Amino acid sequence: MFRNLRIVNSRNLNNCLKLNNRLSNKSFSTSSSGILPITTLTENEEMLKNQVSSFANERILPLVKEMDEKSMLDMNILKNLFEMDLMGIEIPEQYGGAGMNFMSSIIAIEELAKVDPSISVIVDVQNTLVNNCINRYGNEEQKKKYLSLLAKNTVGSFCLSESGSGSDAFSLATRATKQPDGTFVLNGTKQWITNAKEAGVFIVMANVDPSQGYKGITAFIVESSNPGLKIGKKEDKLGIRASSTCEVILDNCVVSSDSILGQLGKGYKIAIEGLNEGRIGIAAQMLGLAEGVFESTIPYLMERKQFGKPIAEFQGMQFTYADLAIDIEAAKLLTYNAARMQEAGLPFVHQASMAKLYASRVAEKTASACISMLGGVGFTKEFPAEKFFRDSKVGQIYEGTTNIQLQVVAKSILKNFKN
Ligand SMILES: Cc1cc2nc3c(=O)[nH]c(=O)nc-3n(C[C@H](O)[C@H](O)[C@H](O)COP(=O)(O)OP(=O)(O)OC[C@H]3O[C@@H](n4cnc5c(N)ncnc54)[C@H](O)[C@@H]3O)c2cc1C
Repeated sequence: MFRNLRIVNSRNLNNCLKLNNRLSNKSFSTSSSGILPITTLTENEEMLKNQVSSFANERILPLVKEMDEKSMLDMNILKNLFEMDLMGIEIPEQYGGAGMNFMSSIIAIEELAKVDPSISVIVDVQNTLVNNCINRYGNEEQKKKYLSLLAKNTVGSFCLSESGSGSDAFSLATRATKQPDGTFVLNGTKQWITNAKEAGVFIVMANVDPSQGYKGITAFIVESSNPGLKIGKKEDKLGIRASSTCEVILDNCVVSSDSILGQLGKGYKIAIEGLNEGRIGIAAQMLGLAEGVFESTIPYLMERKQFGKPIAEFQGMQFTYADLAIDIEAAKLLTYNAARMQEAGLPFVHQASMAKLYASRVAEKTASACISMLGGVGFTKEFPAEKFFRDSKVGQIYEGTTNIQLQVVAKSILKNFKN
């Protein structure tokens, strides 16, 4: 049934973009500079947004509560995500993906988060971290093999963090020891790994044993069928409970040298570039969350009467929701601008950090304020605000905590002033 929901592929995309340019020129002819608002979407992006929104509301929404309670992803949803090409948005068509642009991933992540931030992060990690790392650094053989799987039916995980290395991510203890036959043996335990329970492909960051004369982190592609890779404890989390977060144990896990992504000792660049893009994805997730909780709250405020009139009409309430709307708009502008900068090939690292930090703060603030505006019902599970509130907390933790984003922004300020 989702065949008709399949997003347009890049062949259609080119036509759409041409058409859209014509339409844009026409509809925005009043703009003398020719520069459009940052929130302008191409026709193709608009179509994707509508399709993802319909899917989220029709298929995900009825299952959100149950998935949250059971801390379990509904596997039909995952199947649907693949059928709609949402697990391979930017994967080139030649490998079976949708061949779309980075902004399309951002839009899909945002639209899904309006309904369920858990499903949103599954799509976020797959597209912005795993697929993009392999697409950028994989050799032709790796791309053919893994991108084809990731586009079709295989979930991916990005394994960097460990119990001893979180914010200080590159002090990781996982070791790769080179064997005389050229294979590598991986040993170590990765922690907090999103999608690990469902994943078939893992990008694992490890230090090649320095005693063997190697320096730097290396990224390895490891398959779930490898007997040396085991999924450990699944975390029982405050929020985004339908998204699995598990330990990934590498116990004498033997991989061939063909599994090295990019070059030996050059994994740091792969990880950091992935995270820089990933942070825009998390910004989109948090933006969608803020929009979702806001949009689900306002109608109640217009209906609920106290002192003989709708509570939405009290100035005290109006100032609260007007303030939130301004914050959400600002988060949107930061997020979309960072995404467009990435697409334009411009340096975007500190814009990504700003967007991630700001959107995650706005998400928490909006969810919390919505609970307050809803009153008693907002504190119950009958309304979605309490779940959005729980889901919002993680935005300030993963892919670099708020303090780490502040560090990135501060570093860039210092660099600019030194020059
Ligand atoms: C739900 C979830 C999913 C995740 N998914 C993944 C995944 O898929 N892959 C993956 O590799 N990782 C994943 N992570 C890990 C995540 O990236 C880390 O949790 C995060 O980087 C923070 O590390 P930590 O938890 O060890 O906290 P810590 O690094 O111990 O930080 C604790 C506190 O100390 C502060 N702090 C630390 N250093 C500094 C400093 N220099 N200056 C100021 N403050 C500092 C932090 O801001 C934070 O407030 C996930 C985490 C969660 C919760």
